[in-house]
Amino acid sequence: MGLKRYNAASFFDWQSYHTQPMRVHLQALGCRLNEAELETWARDFRTQGIDVAEDVADADIVVINTCAVTAESVRKSRNLVRRAQRQNPAARLVMSGCYAALSPEQAADELGVDLVVGNAEKDRLVEITQQALSLPVMPQGATEPGEHPLLKRGRQRAFIKVQDGCRYRCTYCVVTLARGEERSRSVDEIIDEINGLHAQGIHEVVLAGVHLGGYGSDKGLTLSDLVQNVLARTTIPRIRLGSVEPWDLPADFWRLFENPRLMPHLHLPIQSGADSVLRRMSRRCKADEFNALIQQAREQVKDFSVTTDIIVGFPGETEEEWQQTLAFVEQVRFAHVHIFAFSAREGTKAATLPLPVSRALKRERSQQLHALAARHKQQTLQQFVDRKFEVLIEGNRENDDAGNPIWSGYTPNFLRVRVPAAPSLDLHNQLLNVRTRAVSTDGEALLADLL
Ligand code: SF4
Repeated sequence: MGLKRYNAASFFDWQSYHTQPMRVHLQALGCRLNEAELETWARDFRTQGIDVAEDVADADIVVINTCAVTAESVRKSRNLVRRAQRQNPAARLVMSGCYAALSPEQAADELGVDLVVGNAEKDRLVEITQQALSLPVMPQGATEPGEHPLLKRGRQRAFIKVQDGCRYRCTYCVVTLARGEERSRSVDEIIDEINGLHAQGIHEVVLAGVHLGGYGSDKGLTLSDLVQNVLARTTIPRIRLGSVEPWDLPADFWRLFENPRLMPHLHLPIQSGADSVLRRMSRRCKADEFNALIQQAREQVKDFSVTTDIIVGFPGETEEEWQQTLAFVEQVRFAHVHIFAFSAREGTKAATLPLPVSRALKRERSQQLHALAARHKQQTLQQFVDRKFEVLIEGNRENDDAGNPIWSGYTPNFLRVRVPAAPSLDLHNQLLNVRTRAVSTDGEALLADLL
């Protein structure tokens, strides 16, 4: 048993950011399980746009996974918390693990931690931390160009960066300041990369860019030209598009989805449902235009599903504007909404805007939107019950009551599916036909059976 300091570089191939996202420092005392949890949390924090800091002094949040197996481990756990407070008094402190579970009041009152997450809720530590501390996290698109947290990288899915840079100046976005002019990779280079990955057993690629819709602007090409080429010159079974700004899809875009290898799901970040907020953000899209776009997509693309990002608490967001956002979300009914509380980024115009929204109000509004989005996700899933789909199986993290593994993967329109299978079967990275039978009780996935 010993102290484990989480070393980000040992687990991940970090992208070099030009910007400074929020950072979390993770520490564990005790058993291997406590250590393994750090790795999962680190990954989950990262997909939420929160970087992992190796040094406690560099962190905005410190998470300590405590131990209580002996009196000595309790003492060490308490010391660890105190040391973290000394080294970084400004950081928000989150405590979990056995000591925190056995003495939550002591942990909260005596040690003054901001949040105690019980062992039963450890799997949701990242989500609970985000909600409870109302973490000011900016849209992932602004911190991690090209890779949206919704579409996680995996052994079966690869991201192909097709362009960099953005011509726009959304007032909250730092990427545009740091990434400069738009530059696109050549079609040949992209095709070679996809074919290479396919040969290595990857079944799905996500074409991604800081401003994906601007692909080819420096080469006299459009995103449609690229997709057409990829469809014609590769045989990889699944092609997805990363986050695309909702205002610059090429005119002939929807026809591309007639090819079933282009997956019928788009992540179109709207950020607010109030036109006045969208104007303050310098976004190029109005709520009605977005709505019309989605209607068009739903008419033309079979089983089309749409997900989005919403920033809660942009400076000056009034109650009326907030109600407009809720009404807009109610109208569109997204399959998933990625919700971010606004935080000012130095150097951006938004950081200089008056009337900041209080942390408490941001938290309240986030919770409202979370509830609404969860209801819509469930309704979307319900719509696809009793249907046949080809699912790309990504992994198995749970077992059913009989101890059989439950595998999970995604439908073409990016709905999560859980499928039980016999323990002898290894379904990882396989494309399999399933029939959906119900929505899971947590409302997060479709339950299905192998065909
Ligand atoms: S479109 Fe806006 S949010 Fe997206 S990268 Fe460009 S400036 Fe940033």
